[in-house]
Amino acid sequence: MSTPYTFETKLLHNKHKFDPETGAVSVPIQHASTFHQKDIETFGKYDYSRSLNPTREAVEEVVAELEEGTHGFAFSSGMAAISTAFLLLSQGDHVVISEDVYGGTYRMVTTVLNRFGIDHTFVDMTNLAEVEAAVLPNTKVFYVETPSNPLLKVTDIEAISLLAKKYNAWTFVDNTFLTPALQKPLTLGADVVLHSATKFLSGHSDVIAGVAVVKDADLAKQIGYLQNSFGAVLGVQDCWLLLRGIKTLHVRMKHSCDGAKIIAEHLQNHPCIKKVHYPGFEDHPQYAIQRKQALNAGAVFSFELHSEEAMRTFVENVKLPVFAVSLGAVESILSYPAKMSHAAMDPAARAERGITDSLLRLSVGLENPQDLINDFDTALKKTAALHYI
Ligand SMILES: *Cc1c(COP(=O)(O)O)cnc(C)c1O
Repeated sequence: MSTPYTFETKLLHNKHKFDPETGAVSVPIQHASTFHQKDIETFGKYDYSRSLNPTREAVEEVVAELEEGTHGFAFSSGMAAISTAFLLLSQGDHVVISEDVYGGTYRMVTTVLNRFGIDHTFVDMTNLAEVEAAVLPNTKVFYVETPSNPLLKVTDIEAISLLAKKYNAWTFVDNTFLTPALQKPLTLGADVVLHSATKFLSGHSDVIAGVAVVKDADLAKQIGYLQNSFGAVLGVQDCWLLLRGIKTLHVRMKHSCDGAKIIAEHLQNHPCIKKVHYPGFEDHPQYAIQRKQALNAGAVFSFELHSEEAMRTFVENVKLPVFAVSLGAVESILSYPAKMSHAAMDPAARAERGITDSLLRLSVGLENPQDLINDFDTALKKTAALHYI
């Protein structure tokens, strides 16, 4: 399936560029739940759509190729993909996991997996000594999100994957923030790549979807079995929306990343901003790792104002970005991690991780960055009086 084309060309010119039956330049949406079989002895490739469906198969093949994996799996949400991947574990197993992981993954690990006897240790994944110290004889998975959410800490995927191999464990990487346009964890040694395809892969705030990709035949067999057993598959209409979104992934990422850099730099120098967390700054603690393993710092960053009151004033006055949960869309999305993505974390756990009450996260969309800057400056001016700036 591999071709000599560059990433952006592959987004369009892959096995599914047209339908071999009709020549249609869009993957047909196959609604059938079941498929007629010729006779008792000979069953066709498809029998029931939970197990395999042509439209889902198309998107699964496309994402597998983009991540440089061999097998892709499409799920009804990012959490369905992540939860199904965790079903690779059994009672008595242990997970070493990034401490500032996505709130829904935190909830899954701390309140669901624990009921099935699957234990976990939260670590600062950027600190390899701390990660290794957390390993137990029953550790089965190293769970990485990089850059992390919402503080954009960067984990060395290659180093963690090596450590995981040393302890005979798997490395799972949530690649939602960067997508294969910027980072390919399987090529760095990871075993399972996970996505909330709701975000950049789909890109238009109009579908909830998840993806898992692997490069090992045995793992593929196990995840395929779990996908069919658990049954949280992506519906065919949403598979098609995801396929359509993916075609523009490269241009969207490029525009959004360029905008994020300009806006992050602007805010960094603004007196009303206390701190900007963006892995594209040369003084970011893991700048070198980010440069090594990804093509860009991404389109998401977070920033702190001088107080919660200033944050509230800013949010009340800013006009362009939608103020919402989620990220990775055509429109810029401003969110408040303490009450949105990380609401599932209790205040003490949030405080420990540095997710303060004055922290906001921005996912830069496709607007002209200067319009966003002008909008932000107007809103920030309103906060200046609060701090005599
Ligand atoms: C949104 C998100 C998820 C969860 O995905 P859903 O599609 O909302 O289920 C997981 N990981 C990250 C990093 C996310 O941003």
